[in-house]
Formats: sequence, structure tokens, C-alpha cells
Amino acid sequence: MSGYLAKMAEQEFEEVVLMHDATTGLQAAIAIHSTVRGPALGGTRMWLYPTENAAVEDAMNLARGMSYKSAAAELPLGGGKGVIIGDPCSDKCEALFRAYGRCVERMNGRFITAADMGVAEDDLDCIKAETCHVIGGRTLGSPSPYTAFGVWKGIRACAEEVYGSPDLEGLCIAVQGIGSVGQALCKHLAEEGAKLIVADIDQSKVEMAVELWGAKAVGRDEIFSQQCDIFTPCGGGGAINEESLPLLRCRIVAGAANNVLREEKYGAALHERGILYAPDYIINAGGIIFVEYSRQGGKDVDAIKTDIARIEGRLKELFRRSREQKRLPEEIADIIAEEKLKEKSEHFLSG
Ligand code: NAD
Repeated sequence: MSGYLAKMAEQEFEEVVLMHDATTGLQAAIAIHSTVRGPALGGTRMWLYPTENAAVEDAMNLARGMSYKSAAAELPLGGGKGVIIGDPCSDKCEALFRAYGRCVERMNGRFITAADMGVAEDDLDCIKAETCHVIGGRTLGSPSPYTAFGVWKGIRACAEEVYGSPDLEGLCIAVQGIGSVGQALCKHLAEEGAKLIVADIDQSKVEMAVELWGAKAVGRDEIFSQQCDIFTPCGGGGAINEESLPLLRCRIVAGAANNVLREEKYGAALHERGILYAPDYIINAGGIIFVEYSRQGGKDVDAIKTDIARIEGRLKELFRRSREQKRLPEEIADIIAEEKLKEKSEHFLSG
């Protein structure tokens, strides 16, 4: 573990735990970045990590990201993440997830988990057999439409910053990834009169977008170089990288994907090219807001949407500070999140 304590000190982590279960062979790690604002909520990911270090690093980076996302959204939550080392296609079984559930239970509510890559709703139901510190499962419903709603509002804030009006009618938006968030987002954008260009690895999703919203279909490598107003990454992470950056012909990058910038330096590179970037964990917070309402028993969809719609104002304020302080939007986002991370959260929700 040499090196991890230094990283924990530098990034103010509270706890990183390695877990092993002799009966099932479970190998897992749970990282709790912060519980200052509330319990550390974050998904559990199952992945065949090449090394133990890669698994722990992933848990730590994702846990810290969750702290920042929840703090910036003013939720009474900290940030954590669990990882199970294993192949989600061949290593899953009920006993393994139940063993993991007992690990979560031992955290005594400081960590609350949900689904993430490689962990399905059925798996959460196995974890739930051992602990109540789980949110999700088949009864909750998907957070994706709520994430999409927030991204749509965030894109409006970006349009206002760059074009002087939040109105998306007539703007051309290139959407990469037409999955559960991308589809719900395309619907909002098309209803507002935006022209869509779409790409996905899965051609059936592309065909659906062409059919439903009259989108123009392009190949997955062509999406970056489309002449458009807004590039909207809704696929995997790292969409903005060494190869894609020089291809972009847009004024805004704003989408649902986590970790849009493969490395921090690409934020500055976007700025140099005159492209506005909406920090990912600010614009894609709709899903976690929905999850927190659900956790607290809130079912009023209008109240949830009103809260998520604040993403528009939050981004406008962030862009204002960015202009005034001559700092990148993502730097301002980190400053805001770090300020809020030090505060205990005020009362949240109703209901
Ligand atoms: P999803 O798996 O349902 O959809 C992702 C889609 O992107 C798939 O259709 C996939 O084929 C496509 N895709 C992946 N890589 C691509 C590429 N290189 N080119 C073109 N298409 C590609 O996932 P989702 O739930 O819609 O999430 C999308 C993104 O938003 C992810 O980065 C996720 O981490 C992030 N996010 C999702 C939520 C949520 O509520 N689901 C919340 C916050 C952030």
C-alpha cells in the first residue's frame, strides 16, 4: 500500500479499505473520500482490473469525483466508490455479491452503494440481502432521464454564454452515444427544435434517432469533425483527447459523459481553441439528485425536476466567475466543490 497514504493525505481521503472473502474469493476495495456533508454515496463497479493497484486507484478517483459532484449539487452526501475485482461476464454469483454486501454492512452506513459498470440491478438485489445501505435495484427506476433533463438545461446555459440566448432552436448539436441518457437527451433537444447529428457503436440506436428525430447519422470517428454548434459526449469517458481535439468544429462541449477530458490539460486546450467546456460533474448531476430524493423518500417528480433545473443557473454562475476570474470553468467548478466540501450540508428535501 505504499504511496496510497500519501495520496490520501494529499486529496483528503478518509478511508480506503481492501476486502477479501475466503469462501467466495471476493476481492474488493471501498474508498470513502468524504463524509463531511453526509454518507459517502457511490456505485460499485465490477471490472477485471489488470492489477490490484489499478482497482484501488479507480475506486479512489471515482470516490473523489462523487464527493465533488454531490457537493457542487449541494446534496447532503459525501463521496465513495466500491470496486469488485472480477470479470462481470463470468465471475458473478449470488454468494459473491452477498459477501460484498456484508463488507458494505461493516461500513455501518458511512458508505451507501448503487449500481455502476458491471453491476446490474439484480446484483444490487443480492447485495441488499445483506445490507440496507444500498440504493437502486429494480424498484427505483432509472436515473438516466433525470441526468438527460439536467444536461439539456446545462446545454441551454452554455448556449446563452456563447450565443447570447439559451434557445436551442435551429442550433446544430452532435451527440456521441445514444444510450439511455443520450436518447432521453435527444428527445429534449429535438423538441426544442435543435438539429441533431448522431453516432453510436450500435447502429440500431443510430437508426432509431434518424427515424424519431430526423437526425443525421455519421460514423463514430466522424462525429468529432462535424460542423456544429455543440458537441455533446454521452458515450464513454475521455472523448476529448489528443486525437479528437484538433478535429472539433464547434463552440461548445457539453454532455453527460463522466471524465470527458482524458487529461486535465485538454480543458486548457479547448479554451485556447475558443470552445466553452461545461464541467462534467456539474452538468451531469441530475441522476444523483434523483437518487438522493429517492433515498429520502421524495417522489414528487416536479420537485425533483425543479431541483435538477438549477443546473442551468449553476452553470451560468460558474461561467460568470470563470470570465471574471479568467480561470477555466472546470477550475471554478473544483473551487466551488472544495468550498462546499468543507461545509456541512443544510437541510435538503421535502418531497
Ligand atoms: P449507456 O451505456 O446506456 O449508453 C452509452 C452509449 O454510448 C451506448 O449506446 C454505447 O454504444 C455508446 N458509445 C460508447 N462509446 C462510444 C463511442 N466511442 N462512440 C459512439 N458511441 C459510443 O450509458 P448511459 O447511462 O447513457 O451513460 C452515458 C454516459 O453518461 C456515461 O459516460 C456515464 O458514465 C455518464 N453518466 C450517466 C448517468 C446516468 O444517469 N446514466 C449519470 C451521470 C453520468
